[in-house]
Amino acid sequence: MPNKPGEQYALKRHKDKERQYNASRPARHGFYATPEWRRLRDWYRARHPLCEECQRQGRVTAAELVHHKREISQGGEPLDMENLESLCRSCHSRLHGVSRG
Ligand SMILES: [Zn+2]
Ligand SMILES: [Zn+2]
Repeated sequence: MPNKPGEQYALKRHKDKERQYNASRPARHGFYATPEWRRLRDWYRARHPLCEECQRQGRVTAAELVHHKREISQGGEPLDMENLESLCRSCHSRLHGVSRG
């Protein structure tokens, strides 16, 4: 079996470069994996343990996730707590699934 140390070295270098790139500039879809988001999300949900949409309708439902009122892709602030909302899964999918024009 031929030994190809050069090829292995090139592969390793490529992987290192990729890792550095991902760490310094997370892709938009990778935002939800960043420690900054996870910390803020956990903090926000601890302060808002109930679904805020259900609360407006007089229901008491445990929040299951934290949603951006204005989507990041629409220019919403990803790490601004004013742009966050605790929601249960059904309210969240309704907000995302229904087009309001
Ligand atoms: Zn709800
Ligand atoms: Zn959402």
